[in-house]
Amino acid sequence: MLMATPDLVIIGSMGLDDVKTPFGEVKNALGGSASYASYAASFFSKPGIVSVIGDDFPQGHLELLQKRGINLDGIEKKANGKTFRWNGLYEYDVNVAHTLKTELNVLADFKPKLPENYRDSEFLFLGNVPPEEQLDVLSQMRARPKLTVSDTMDFYIKSKKEKVLEVVKKADIALMNDSEARMLFNTHNLIKAAREILKLDSEYAIIKKGEHGALLFTDHSHFSAPGYPLEDVVDPTGCGDCFAGALMGYFASHKEISEARFRKGIIYASVIASFNAEGFSLSRLQRLTNDEIEKRYGEMKKIVEF
Ligand code: AMP
Repeated sequence: MLMATPDLVIIGSMGLDDVKTPFGEVKNALGGSASYASYAASFFSKPGIVSVIGDDFPQGHLELLQKRGINLDGIEKKANGKTFRWNGLYEYDVNVAHTLKTELNVLADFKPKLPENYRDSEFLFLGNVPPEEQLDVLSQMRARPKLTVSDTMDFYIKSKKEKVLEVVKKADIALMNDSEARMLFNTHNLIKAAREILKLDSEYAIIKKGEHGALLFTDHSHFSAPGYPLEDVVDPTGCGDCFAGALMGYFASHKEISEARFRKGIIYASVIASFNAEGFSLSRLQRLTNDEIEKRYGEMKKIVEF
């Protein structure tokens, strides 16, 4: 039987997170960039994951993703391997996050292999795995995707800056948050950092500012998306991945790349990310409805009206 090509291919980590915030804590919770990004994308289209897990990865976590129509063919399960683990702590100001421990485990020597049915996908999200793996996946696509978006994090900028810059250059859009952009381009100024991104063959630059929204730059324009004024932040883990996954899921459902689509996509991405922060792991997204998404999208529209 011919397997369907996913609307969107997402490579990223899948892991077990121990997270503590001022509002509670979880242990062994489903985490990882691919888990969050694919779940967020599944509100708009049908993504397929490329990732690696150990044989200690709970079956229930996989079922949760499968139930959303997420294709799991590209997940490699390593016999006798230990799943990637991350331990994070957030301060009272939840914008301040501390990584207490990162155990790459099976992610350390992950050699991603795209299933045949993934290679023709038109949309590719290179989520957080080592940059060499992001480049490897891009090279396995049969044709250049319509849109390739990459993500990175301080962990890789510190240890593999040159490779991260190569990913930024090869992707159509490199997503980063404000502190990552400052670190990568050695500047305090986000406008200057965005210019550097645009110089690296990118038509669009998006810089995320955590709960304060996101900025979109092109050579000739600028869009500023507000953060949703959230009253009940519980755990911001994965918000960046949800932003990226929702943005890509939105594009994969519309198939048209334009600035107008970017503006709307960024708002949907902010909406999904804001819901994610209302619960630990994927708990809030699991009960999120399309009506709630549309309602918050409408509120965002009102916030920027003047
Ligand atoms: P975010 O809050 O969007 O930065 O993403 C948090 C998620 O990234 C957590 O669920 C972690 O499991 C995952 N993560 C943390 N460190 C790494 C890393 N070095 N490589 C890949 N994924 C990571």
